Amino acid sequence: MALIVHKYGGTSMGSTDRIKNVAARVAKWHDAGYQIVVVPSAMSGETNRLIGLAKQIMDQPDPRELDMIASTGEQVSVGLLAMALLAIGKQAVSYAGWQVAIKTDSSFTKARIQSIDDAKVRADLDAGKIVIITGFQGVDDEDNIATLGRGGSDTSAVAIAAAMKADECLIYTDVDGVYTTDPRVVEEARRLKTITFEEMLELASLGSKVLQSRSVEFAGNYRVPTRVLSSLTDPLMPLEEEARSGTLISFEEDTKMEQAVISGIAFNRDEAKITILGVPDKPGVAYHILGPVADANIEVDMIIQNQSVEGKTDFTFTVSRGEYQKAMGVLEGVKTEIGAASVAGDAKVSKVSVVGVGMRSHVGVASQMFRTLSEEGINILMISTSEIKISVLIDEKYMELAVRALHKAFELENE
Ligand code: ADP
Ligand code: ASP
Ligand code: MG
Repeated sequence: MALIVHKYGGTSMGSTDRIKNVAARVAKWHDAGYQIVVVPSAMSGETNRLIGLAKQIMDQPDPRELDMIASTGEQVSVGLLAMALLAIGKQAVSYAGWQVAIKTDSSFTKARIQSIDDAKVRADLDAGKIVIITGFQGVDDEDNIATLGRGGSDTSAVAIAAAMKADECLIYTDVDGVYTTDPRVVEEARRLKTITFEEMLELASLGSKVLQSRSVEFAGNYRVPTRVLSSLTDPLMPLEEEARSGTLISFEEDTKMEQAVISGIAFNRDEAKITILGVPDKPGVAYHILGPVADANIEVDMIIQNQSVEGKTDFTFTVSRGEYQKAMGVLEGVKTEIGAASVAGDAKVSKVSVVGVGMRSHVGVASQMFRTLSEEGINILMISTSEIKISVLIDEKYMELAVRALHKAFELENE
């Protein structure tokens, strides 16, 4: 019997009426003969509310205790959804991550899934039950609850689908698929029927919140057929039609001649830039600066080291805005240690990226991107590129303007 994993996000679970709709949709799939595992998120706004409570007690909440709190939203969701299914006569059972168990490492607030024991879930499915598992959380070797980072329910769902060799993972959300860019920012954004795994991974890691990037990694590593589709359609719509809707992540090497050069634009509002000035330029500079940052478990993104002048250089890198204060603290220590002149920071910067596998065979994408930004009078602070993407760091106040201008310049509204 085919096994399908459904994931429902916060908006999809946002009220008891919406949860009843989810139950009706899940029941439709189960009635059609599929085994179903459902992975819901917390009701919309709930995780923010819980983190807000924690911050009222502690400015920088203790990560272990924060996860204890933040993980509870999903526990409410699974219980409510199980009841909604029981209420319409379906057999259903809910589990928290630790009950399954979904094992993670101990990096609280950004833990990684290490293994999933599916024995209990399989037994329930074979007994005809619909199994509902909390998204966003797992348990470490010491039985501490750990969460997977914001948006982590996507990763829970794809990881469960991978571990159980599910036939498909359906990510139900509040948009009807993956668009050329966030349709809330660019009205003309166009839904993609398929997107290559590589492009989806870039878009997600560069800030497209429609999927958490680690979920795309799981989909790629374990070849999980994954589709993004709407939860806001009629739950009783014909199943065949629903199963073909949305956007499918494809793993085929795209050999089409007419492959678009650019497939999508991603952005990340919440970046911060840190510069350490007047650094004595000698071997090991980058290591002495970034080593302590990595030791503090802070992820660094873009990096530039300037040409040295009279034996001194400036070194700039970006981190996510949430880690800015922590990184500045680390850098103050580094400054003294390596005898640098000063540390400067800017926490009001954003990153905009264009992504497309077609870039491999086309030149001129970078120049068109830079021309478009220059025509809009937008100053580029940093640039980074890979084979299939170009990212620029800009002042946050121009971010939406940049995304709209680039969407137009690359004619992404046209098929
Ligand atoms: P969920 O709660 O279902 O996980 P999210 O809010 O995490 O939903 O992700 C869905 C949102 O992602 C959409 O509402 C949309 O605003 C945003 N988004 C960003 N980039 C894209 C994109 N390229 N395509 C579709 N949606 C996008
Ligand atoms: N509830 C969690 C969050 O808000 C996980 C998720 O929605 O995927 O980040
Ligand atoms: Mg999400």
